[in-house]
This record gives sequence, C-alpha cells and structure tokens, in this order.
Amino acid sequence: MKKNIQIIKKSLLYFRPFKWAIIVIFILGFIQNSLINSSSYVLGKVVDAFNSVDQYNLLLYVIGYILLLVMPLMLKRLINIYDIKHVDFDMFNHIQGTTLFKSLGLSLGQLRREHSGFKQDVLKSGENSLDYLYFIIQEEILPAISSFIVALVGLYFVGIEFFLTAILFSIIYYTHGTYVNAGIKKPLRVQIEKRGERNKVYVDILRSLFFIKFSNQRETATKHLNVVQDDFRNHGVDIWTDYHKKMLISDFLLISYYVIFVYFVYMGLQKGDISAGLLIPTFAWMVMFANAVSRVRNMQRRIAIAISDLEKMFEMLEQKTDLEICENPRSINVFENEISFESVGFDYKDGKKDALISINFNIKKGEKVALVGRSGSGKTTIISLLLRLYDPAQGSILIDGVDLKALELGDWHNMIAYVPQDSDLLDISIKDNIIFGARHKVTDAEIESVLEKAGIKEFIHNLPQGIDTLVGERGVKLSGGQKQRVCIARALIKDAPILLLDEATSSLDSETESVVNKAIWDMLGDKTGVVIAHRLSTILDADKIIVMDHGEIVGIGTHKQLLKSTPYYKKLVDAQNVNL
Ligand code: ADP
Ligand code: MG
Repeated sequence: MKKNIQIIKKSLLYFRPFKWAIIVIFILGFIQNSLINSSSYVLGKVVDAFNSVDQYNLLLYVIGYILLLVMPLMLKRLINIYDIKHVDFDMFNHIQGTTLFKSLGLSLGQLRREHSGFKQDVLKSGENSLDYLYFIIQEEILPAISSFIVALVGLYFVGIEFFLTAILFSIIYYTHGTYVNAGIKKPLRVQIEKRGERNKVYVDILRSLFFIKFSNQRETATKHLNVVQDDFRNHGVDIWTDYHKKMLISDFLLISYYVIFVYFVYMGLQKGDISAGLLIPTFAWMVMFANAVSRVRNMQRRIAIAISDLEKMFEMLEQKTDLEICENPRSINVFENEISFESVGFDYKDGKKDALISINFNIKKGEKVALVGRSGSGKTTIISLLLRLYDPAQGSILIDGVDLKALELGDWHNMIAYVPQDSDLLDISIKDNIIFGARHKVTDAEIESVLEKAGIKEFIHNLPQGIDTLVGERGVKLSGGQKQRVCIARALIKDAPILLLDEATSSLDSETESVVNKAIWDMLGDKTGVVIAHRLSTILDADKIIVMDHGEIVGIGTHKQLLKSTPYYKKLVDAQNVNL
C-alpha cells in the first residue's frame, strides 16, 4: 500500500505542469455528472405532477428534465474541447519527453546492457499507464464518485434504511475486492516480466526480419515467438481465471443488496412513505450506487496493472548508476600529460571469464597508440573503460594523475571523439549526422574539409540530394564503408583532443582503407589517438602498439621492437602477410 502511494505520488509529478487545467476539468466533470445523476429525481417529479391539477408545474418539470438531459451533454463537449487543447496531447508529449530525458540519465553501461526490447516495453507500458491513469480518473472514477455521492444523499432522504444498506454493501463489496486484488499483486509482476520477455523476443525478431526471411526461418521465428507468447498467455489465464472465480462471490453480494433494497421499497410503498414519483429516483439511485461501487472496484484491477507497469518503469528510470559516484567530481577541459592504466582488471558480470587482467600501459599526450589482438582479446573493453561505460573491477585509470572516477564525466566525454566498432547513425540527413554532437557552430567549409579528409566528399556530392540525403534506419542507405566514413567525419568535426577509433576502417576495401587511414593519422596531428585496427598494415607507424591476447597485454612497443620482442605479434603479422 505504501509502495502504491509512492508510485501514485511519482506519477503525479508527471501531471504537475497540467495541474490547473486538470482541476478545471475535474470540477466541471463532477458538475456534469452530478447533473446527469440528479435527472431521475426530476423525472419522478414529472410523474408526480401528472396526478396534480397544476399543469404549469408539470410543464416546468418537463422542461427541467429535458435541460438536465441535454445540458450535461453540452458541458461534456466543452470539457472535451478544453481537455484536447490543454491536456490530452500535451500531457502525453510531456510524459514521453520526460521518460526519454530520464532514460538518458542512465549510465552508458546501463544503456548498453539493457535489452532494447525490454526498454521499449517498459517505457511504452509505463507511459501509456500514466496517460491511462488520467483517463480513468476522468472518465470512470470521477463519474463514479459523483454517482456515489448523489445516490447516497438521495437515498438518505428516501429513508435511512436505504442509506445504511448502501453503505454496508459498499464496505463489504469493496473489502472483498481489495482482498482479491492483493492476491494478484505478485503474479501480476511476474506477468509483466513475461510480457517484457515476449516483447524482447518480438523486437529481436523484427530487427532480424531480413536475415530470418533469407534463411527461410519463417516458421522457426514464429515458433520462437509462440513459446514466449504461450508462457505469457498461460500465466495470464491462470491469474485472471482465478481472479474472476473469486470475484463471483461479489455478484452474490450484489444480489443480496438488490433483494434487501426491493424489500425496503415494498415496505415503503405499503406504509405510503414512497410515492409513485419517488419510486423512479429510488430505483435509479439504487442501481446508480451499485454501478458506481462496482465500477470503482473493476477499475482496481486495471489500476493494479497500471501501477505494476509504472513500478517497473520507475525502477528502470531510477536505477542507481553502476558507476562509482564521486561527490565533487573535478571538471577537466585540457588533457595535459598522460592517460595511464594501472593494474586494471575487468569482468563483464555475465561473462564467463575476466575480460581484462592486470592491464598496465600509458598514453602520453600526442601519442598515437594502436591496440591489436585477435577478436575477443579485450580491445573494445579497454576503449569502453576509457569512455567510462564501466568502472574497472581492479586497479585504476588515471588522467593526468587523477582517477577517471573523480572526473566530471560530461567534461571527459567532451574531450573525446569516438568512432565505435558498429557505426551507428540516426535516420536524419548526412549533414545532420555529421554535426550531431559538435560543440560549436559548424560552418559549411568545415564540413567540406572533414568530408574530404574522411574520403567521402566525392561520393556525397554525387548523391542527388547531396549532403542532405537521409541515411535510412541505422544508415542502411549507405555502404558499411560509407557509414564508417560518415562516422569518422563526425568524429573529426568534434575536434576533440583525444580520438578513439574502434576498428573504424574495417569495412573499407584495402585501397580506401589506406587512404582513410592516412587521413586518420594526418588528422590526428598533435592529437592523442587510440586506434584499434583490423589490418596491421595500417598501424605500422603508430608510436606504440599494444598487443592483447585473452584479456592480457603480451607486448608493448613499436612495430620494429615488437617483431623482435613478441613472437605472438610476429605471428599476427605473418598471418596477415604484412609487407614490411
Ligand atoms: P575485442 O574488441 O578485442 O574483439 P572485446 O573487448 O569486445 O574484444 O571482448 C573481450 C571479451 O569480453 C570477450 O570474451 C567478449 O565475449 C566479452 N564481452 C564483450 N562485451 C561483453 C558484454 N557486453 N557482456 C559480456 N561479455 C562481453
Ligand atoms: Mg572489438
């Protein structure tokens, strides 16, 4: 319960910017519903007036009744217009924008680890639940509360026994519902995890549609999805069958309520306390009251689902960072001296073995360092630690003598341009991709210059829409090599003092690669660079080559030195037929 209140409180924060508009809508909605709920009373008056001689009274009541039927409809339209203009769309946009912004508050490591299918499911369901909460309060709860109050007041005036019957019924009915709902809380959480699992598989399949189709695996893929669907379904069927069986009791409660009520009405008629006209609102309020109570209780189930969704979303958005927190991080805007790895060890929590073991090396300012080694040897992991996606499990990384953990991470990232192993582009124009992340206003001349350096100037200028060409989802409209070069251009525009390139030229043909590589070494100029290279021929000029094997460094030196000192390096070189 306490937890639920916390979740509701957190949800309310999302509604805050719309507080006043919502209050206006709720008050008007309440008035509107109360008008509807009072109409049966006036209808009773109409019936009573039939028997009186005063025709004028009858006319008044008929007009009043019609007004009570029509006015709330008109009011509802006005409320809808107001809602659409001031809350509806704006609120969803606000919710989505806020969750996106909060997602970006997660650490890089967390963002990379979390499966995108899960993320999508949790965020989408959470966002929809917030929107839904507002909707059911407005469309279900508020009308129910209005019916509840109007009916109770009305019944009180009809007779205290009606009033008490209603109160007693609502208490028993509601208590039973709460008890049943409490029972499904845990299974519901499991159910949401299963839904996440299903969505993860689905998104995964969607992402690989091309390959699945190509490999004729349509059935396999569908079966793969069916397994998680069935799991979700079976669990859901169990929960809800059980729920509805338990809820059957409440239908008997409802029958008893009506029976008692009708008995009291009968007694009232006998005694002459209830007139024919009063019979109409009495029955109307009886039904209205029962409906209101059961409506709120049925909402409980849907609210329980919404709350579980929200709980999951808040949990995800409020994950504590897995990075060690430094209370007063130092700001950094120049790199003066050196980066050093001191006995750094690291393991991916789900990895079977250590990804890095006791890594020691340093990179002096202005040095061009190459990381080489077979795939899986730990090269990318070194870059990930340097970017502080994760903190080392052992040892430390020092920047100019200061532990990376003590630096302001945003500042540090500003000093690095990074070209990842799998180049990732947004589906915007080439130009916008290139200037994305630049910290200064980029001139056209600058863009021309980096395009030239990255070796794609000619290619881009030959496109019908030139630099304004949209690149497609993840850059599908470009070849692997073109994509990489756009990413290199993007890194160049950033003009940061440190450049990290993770196999940035691996998709290029060897001729283009040597051109682009020359550009990379040139552009490195006096910058500090760490380059992971696929082809050893491209890093022969590095100031320092670090040779990795199974998470360990097996040699450090220049190409010439390593040929002599490190047989493993020589083996790698020989395997690639590098011309010396
Ligand atoms: P390289 O870049 O040299 O090919 P990596 O640094 O990517 O190698 O990987 C080093 C080791 O860590 C490999 O054994 C790899 O399987 C493992 N690894 C890499 N990334 C992850 C990850 N996100 N989760 C678990 N294990 C990982
Ligand atoms: Mg790698």
